[in-house]
Amino acid sequence: MVIAKAWALKKHFDGFPKTSDFDLKKIELPDLKDGGEQKLLLASVFLSVDPYMRPYSRRVMKEGDIMIGTQVARVVESKNPAFAVGAFVVCDRGWRTHFISDGKDLQLLPSSWPESLPKSLALGTIGMPGLTAYFGLLEICKMKPGETVLVNAAAGAVGSVVGQLAKIGGCRVVGCAGSDDKVAYLKTLGFDEAFNYKTVKSLDEALRKASPDGYDCFFDNVGGEFASVAINQMKKYGRIAVCGAISQYNDSVPQKGPYVQIPMIFKELRMEGFIVSRWSNRREEGLNALLKWVMEGKVKYHEQVTEGFENMPMAFIGMLKGENIGKAVVKV
Ligand code: NDP
Repeated sequence: MVIAKAWALKKHFDGFPKTSDFDLKKIELPDLKDGGEQKLLLASVFLSVDPYMRPYSRRVMKEGDIMIGTQVARVVESKNPAFAVGAFVVCDRGWRTHFISDGKDLQLLPSSWPESLPKSLALGTIGMPGLTAYFGLLEICKMKPGETVLVNAAAGAVGSVVGQLAKIGGCRVVGCAGSDDKVAYLKTLGFDEAFNYKTVKSLDEALRKASPDGYDCFFDNVGGEFASVAINQMKKYGRIAVCGAISQYNDSVPQKGPYVQIPMIFKELRMEGFIVSRWSNRREEGLNALLKWVMEGKVKYHEQVTEGFENMPMAFIGMLKGENIGKAVVKV
């Protein structure tokens, strides 16, 4: 019999999450059966910590539930011929070391996944965050060669891919991030301009200096104050992809304006929110494109790997604080 460890939400987050909001539980797993739903035993190998967990915990979880989330897991025992022992899958089974499945909720890693590539990338550059960058840029920003793209949280999982895909698409790219190390990283990725939004005297001036003619596309991961400043520097007919609002996720009291209508009218902007699952029917297309670019060296990646399942809350809180360069993952 296997005893899984799992992190539960002890108390709904109030403001910034704390380690005391989580509870480590032990769950006894049943043995596999030939019929029914208990066909596979899996062990998580890498788990993802993502910003969405903060706002979604309120929307979809109650206190005591196991934290939501995605993992790369290995098949340990199998009574389902579609999944051999040793196979790696991606699934949304939350913060658990082990779990039972019938196989319906598992996605095998692409068969073309090279041995040389870390499997954890299936949670980042060649996974949900990479797809977010891909579809957000192509379908919402509708970037065109020669245009200027602005992205914030640019050194993170989504932002770092946004910048690189925009370069592949022939655009000029400006990125903002919260430390000098992150800014240096953005330069190694080929960003044309990058600055530390925490140390510039004026965000407005820094954005103007980075692109005096303004921005055609704005891939917004941050929202709030940053977005309010940036919207005024959009070019006429500019497109804003509202991907995330991490600057607002931990607010107990909602932030107030400035409001977007005036710049939207006079610059005739298009602003659209999106959730990456809108394109789940094109997942394979996106993953294949990202995998190819990574293998060709056109898209580089960096991961912030925290060792140890017991450190999941710490890794999650660290990511929300901005401690990660690239994708934050936990190695069990
Ligand atoms: P990141 O890897 O970018 O990590 C989060 C980063 O956000 C931190 O490293 C930090 O970077 C930045 N950050 C944290 N707090 C603030 C703040 N108050 N103001 C500005 N920046 C802050 O995470 P992801 O790439 O996974 O996600 C980026 C955004 O995309 C999030 O808003 C997320 O919710 C959203 N998202 C949306 C999806 C969708 O389908 N719409 C799918 C996936 C992600 P720094 O040091 O630069 O401040």
